[in-house]
Amino acid sequence: MSLGLVDAEALAALHDRINICTSCRLHETRTRAVPGDGPVTARIMAVGEAPGENEDRTGRPFVGAAGQLLTRLLQSIGLDRQDIYICNVLKCRPPGNRDPEPDEVSSCAHFLDEQVALIRPDVILLLGRHAVGRLLPGMPGISRIHGQRVRRGDRLYVPLFHPAAALYNASLLRTLEEDMQRVRGYLDDAEAERERQRKDEEQEAARAAAVRAADEQLTLF
Ligand code: SF4
Repeated sequence: MSLGLVDAEALAALHDRINICTSCRLHETRTRAVPGDGPVTARIMAVGEAPGENEDRTGRPFVGAAGQLLTRLLQSIGLDRQDIYICNVLKCRPPGNRDPEPDEVSSCAHFLDEQVALIRPDVILLLGRHAVGRLLPGMPGISRIHGQRVRRGDRLYVPLFHPAAALYNASLLRTLEEDMQRVRGYLDDAEAERERQRKDEEQEAARAAAVRAADEQLTLF
């Protein structure tokens, strides 16, 4: 069985566990849990705050007006939503869309950690302050760091305002659109860096092969 298939099955099994989770009070009021959506092979992951009313009803993340805006923002920088794995910090809707409580975030934390570990994305878009607080604890507030790239090991994190906050705020929407253009630049930089590394490795392999060939010639005499 290919590694991709094993990962896809592991992700499906993780979604199954989320769907029946009763670890915090939110399971009592949810209609459906919302594990996440997208391919296990995604190189980009987007993490929001928690399901809203539409998500709670359908079991899918970002399907309401904020989801449509997210899809449009991704398209504006040449990304297809189908290629991205999208999920939330909390997998069940807080009643009335209230803020997540700390104990709920901590009960749910291991699910997001498992999703990141399985998907191993190169880039994580952090949509809103709760996603930033969860995956980049200790960073300044989102109004100070939105649109910046934060590198942790091999992974790039980009804090962005949550699309729901930009729905009825024209100035925030403009900021979010500008930040998405920065994301395009970061992705292009990362692609160029990968290409540089690939060429360096090719040159190194060619050099090593030339040295080996020269050594073999010498042993003939
Ligand atoms: S929010 Fe997370 S921890 Fe709470 S019931 Fe849903 S899946 Fe379980």
